Amino acid sequence: MAYPCKFCGFISYARTSRMLTETVRETYYQCGDYENCGKPFKTYSESYAVEYKRKLLDIRTPVDDRQMELPGLTA
Ligand SMILES: [Zn+2]
Repeated sequence: MAYPCKFCGFISYARTSRMLTETVRETYYQCGDYENCGKPFKTYSESYAVEYKRKLLDIRTPVDDRQMELPGLTA
């Protein structure tokens, strides 16, 4: 997984990640420009998009946990 370095914009790569809650993942990145930057940083991602789309579609949550795996509802 790649992500732009928050310091210089160079492509950074995920080093490790862990789940903080059931829906929030913390991911550690290190800048791929090791000579000029190489700084580490972390990001948080949450499964917000899934819940948002389900609200747009007026789907009661959760009708069934298996709906989480339907095509188009996952990011
Ligand atoms: Zn950088």
